[in-house]
Amino acid sequence: MIKTDVLVLGGGLAGLSTAYHLGRLGSLGVIVAEKENKPGGRAATERKGRFLFDHTGHLLHLHDPYGKGLILDLLKGNLALHERSSWIHSQGADTRYPFQANTFGLPREAVADCVAGAARNLYRPRTLGASPSFKDWSLAAFGEGISRRFMFPYNEKLWRTPLDRLTTEWQGRFLPRPKPEEVLYGALVDQKRFFGYNAHFRYPVRGGCQALPDALAARVPALRLGCKVVAVDLAEKTAVLEGLGEVRYERLVNTMPLPDFLDLAGPLPPAVRAARARLRWVDVHNLNIGVGRANISERHWIYFPEDRFPFYRAGFVSNFAADMAPKGTSSLYIEVSRRPGEAVDHAVLERQCVSGLRRAGVLKASDRVVEKLWIVIKKGYVVYDRARTPAVNAVMAHLRSRGVWSIGRWGGWKYSFMEETILDGKRCAEEISGRKAGRSRRSEAPLVALK
Ligand SMILES: Cc1cc2nc3c(=O)[nH]c(=O)nc-3n(C[C@H](O)[C@H](O)[C@H](O)COP(=O)(O)OP(=O)(O)OC[C@H]3O[C@@H](n4cnc5c(N)ncnc54)[C@H](O)[C@@H]3O)c2cc1C
Repeated sequence: MIKTDVLVLGGGLAGLSTAYHLGRLGSLGVIVAEKENKPGGRAATERKGRFLFDHTGHLLHLHDPYGKGLILDLLKGNLALHERSSWIHSQGADTRYPFQANTFGLPREAVADCVAGAARNLYRPRTLGASPSFKDWSLAAFGEGISRRFMFPYNEKLWRTPLDRLTTEWQGRFLPRPKPEEVLYGALVDQKRFFGYNAHFRYPVRGGCQALPDALAARVPALRLGCKVVAVDLAEKTAVLEGLGEVRYERLVNTMPLPDFLDLAGPLPPAVRAARARLRWVDVHNLNIGVGRANISERHWIYFPEDRFPFYRAGFVSNFAADMAPKGTSSLYIEVSRRPGEAVDHAVLERQCVSGLRRAGVLKASDRVVEKLWIVIKKGYVVYDRARTPAVNAVMAHLRSRGVWSIGRWGGWKYSFMEETILDGKRCAEEISGRKAGRSRRSEAPLVALK
């Protein structure tokens, strides 16, 4: 039987970062088991014909000095800095992101409704309990008009969950909250001020997002590709890996989606099994298309809150890097959210998506789809309902008592992004080795964008 000090399940950014930092911090033996034949997980890039497609948009937002330093060093100049151009398509108009600060351009009645709702909150503030639902929080933060015209329909479309069952834990860092005077100004003027954590982003000039995990994997000699974990015995501290056999470990780092890991690990006490059963998510069905016309848009991405469009967001991949699509073409990703287990006919959905893009004016009637690739992102978004945090806490407490760290976006069962995922791996390596790899803020600190 193979023995290792640390077994890492998954060669996405969390697993790679853990192994890379363990390598820097000491001499512990590490194996990283990745089921696919390339590293990167959801940060991977797929080639289809002459197009490169990420798993929807994967843009780098850097907020932490250590994370930024590491990522710039890994990509060594293969990164361009972009100023975000993101928009919302609703009521027949395109307005700048975020909706709550930029209603200029909507029909006049809609603008009045949004401003009146925000004004009403000023002189008659809504009181919120200690843990309000997302729905109540939105009404208190933005008012009735902005909530009903954007926050409610967009979030219902994404989360597929009644908004009075969602908590506010996931959005605090991600949803910009303009001041009342900014709401008013943005209703009267086409203001160009940036709000939010992602006003700028970086993206590889060559190779799509895959360039990042590839560069990290080059520093992780312990990575085993095509090595699927099929069972974990938490009491014996052994795991069965396809192609490698049984492995005995001292410490285990899981980066697979938490429910999937719990389904192949045991023994688990009934309370942990019950907590596993309470975890909820939505799947993202991601249609990627190549279109036979250059420069179909100058934008980076557009949000679609309305029901008449099946997708909640579409982005222009070929505007992130010219390398993503052949000359004379453009490429897009389109994101549709569905509850797990819901029957989805991709042929039908594809027709609806393409006709939706035509109705929105993104595609012309004469545009031809010259390439396409569906990517299904199972468990794409963790649903933050009231059961999520107590369930995750119960699971994590048990796993830690068994020498298991469960980290990353899906191992940690949370809403996060790539830089944070890399910092999760660093912190995990520091905890395992008892040594510090370098200073970084806590990965869930308020997001302050670093250009
Ligand atoms: C729709 C969407 C859009 C996003 N956009 C952005 C963005 O613009 N910017 C940004 O910074 N972040 C974005 N993210 C977040 C980003 O994808 C994650 O933060 C990051 O990729 C998480 O990496 P991870 O290592 O935690 O998980 P993963 O990438 O899922 O890695 C887990 C790995 O485990 C492997 N695995 C699973 N089961 C097994 C098994 N049985 N045996 C062995 N290996 C296994 C998987 O193949 C995978 O490689 C987005 C995410 C989604 C869903």
